[in-house]
Amino acid sequence: MAPVTSFEELKTAIYPPNPTYDIADRPWLPPTQKPYLLLNANLVDPRAGVVHKGTSLHLAGGKVVRVAPTTAQDLTTEFRCAGQMVEKIDASKYFVCPGLIDCHVHVMAVHGSATLHGAFTFPHETAIFRSAGTLRGMLSNGFTTVRDTGGATIAHAQATEEFLIPGPRVFQGGRMLSQTGGHGDDTEVWNDSHCCRSNGIANSALGRLCDGVPECLQAARDNMRKGAQHLKVCTSGGIASATDKLESLQFTVEELQAITTVNKNMGGTLVTAHCYTAEGIRHAIAGGVRGIEHGNMIDPETAQLMAEKGVFLTPTLALHTFVTMPPYDKFETPDGLRKNAIVGDAGIRGIRHAEEAGVTVCYGTDTTGPTLVMQTYEFVVRSKILPSPAVLRQATINGAKQVGMEGKLGELVEGSFADLLFLNKNPLEDIASLDRINENLMMVMKDGRIVKSQIDSLRPERNCEWN
Ligand SMILES: [Zn+2]
Repeated sequence: MAPVTSFEELKTAIYPPNPTYDIADRPWLPPTQKPYLLLNANLVDPRAGVVHKGTSLHLAGGKVVRVAPTTAQDLTTEFRCAGQMVEKIDASKYFVCPGLIDCHVHVMAVHGSATLHGAFTFPHETAIFRSAGTLRGMLSNGFTTVRDTGGATIAHAQATEEFLIPGPRVFQGGRMLSQTGGHGDDTEVWNDSHCCRSNGIANSALGRLCDGVPECLQAARDNMRKGAQHLKVCTSGGIASATDKLESLQFTVEELQAITTVNKNMGGTLVTAHCYTAEGIRHAIAGGVRGIEHGNMIDPETAQLMAEKGVFLTPTLALHTFVTMPPYDKFETPDGLRKNAIVGDAGIRGIRHAEEAGVTVCYGTDTTGPTLVMQTYEFVVRSKILPSPAVLRQATINGAKQVGMEGKLGELVEGSFADLLFLNKNPLEDIASLDRINENLMMVMKDGRIVKSQIDSLRPERNCEWN
């Protein structure tokens, strides 16, 4: 055959490689979930604070579709569900617990730095890739949902939802908003030009600066445009920020009102504030804020106000002991350690004041890539202060409420997501057992898919472990 001499001839001389290929294909999307029937489970109910023995859980399409006492028929009959055989799992040896919820993490503070400051000042692209490891580690810790309080993007939420990378469900608020000289201002003190202030972006993957009502409106709207589900602001000083005093009040009430109004008008869940002091909490509430992060120095009166206004509290207590112990004692600056001692001491009383006043207290850790082990250590710290059922409630139903997913996450009821753990120990009796991952956490399921397992007969469909 003679060689072709024109493009028209070439087009007719060849055949298309795959004419039916869907160009919009996302090849990483997993197939539909296998239907499961968990038999004779010891179902952990964090709302009632009890274990329901001998329970069947029917899972299909990533949801819990039926919860009922296990019957003889459950054990003997073969079931099909939407054309698939239902796989039965004998759960009689395990406590089946809802997947855990951490309401305060930073997925964009990543591995590879000897200091906390370095962990969140990598080039943005580097941080994005490395954050995949942080997310993987959180899921491996038993956290099937996290709320990021500064740094995560909609891409993190989508990538984990679609199982492009293994990770928990991510509720994100974009970069946290800070005034100049506030907790989110990472500009070096010697930097006169404040060069990194251009476009309102501080020199950090975690923070964004805005000053004055117009900039606050714009920054809040920009975060919402990028798919934020909540917004985070800073209303008092912090440990990691060099020059702001703990007792400093950050943003004016008018600036806070601007941000909380945008959040409300654009359909966000709430605005939450980094804040340590009681005065800072009152200042935040005056600006319409409905969540407080850390809150260590809260007093009984302020706790009462939070309870009346329905303001959530997310303490992060483990951090304060962690940064005093090797190897993390090199993580903070000497001045950071001085501030840490003050808030660490107050935090032990603060969480009790909040629980006693009836505040909805959530589980938070401030976990980053290099501090992944701290995420479950928070259970050990809280176990020394509060009863186990209270702490489990914080890490399940209270967290679900704060992210606007009550009844869908944090408990295993009909219609909730099939996010669950198989545990050897009852967390209602020993909440600190959740820190002993290797001996206690036998299986993690997220969205009806096994993502980690130490049980030979149950292999992970989407593995969240490093090896
Ligand atoms: Zn934080």
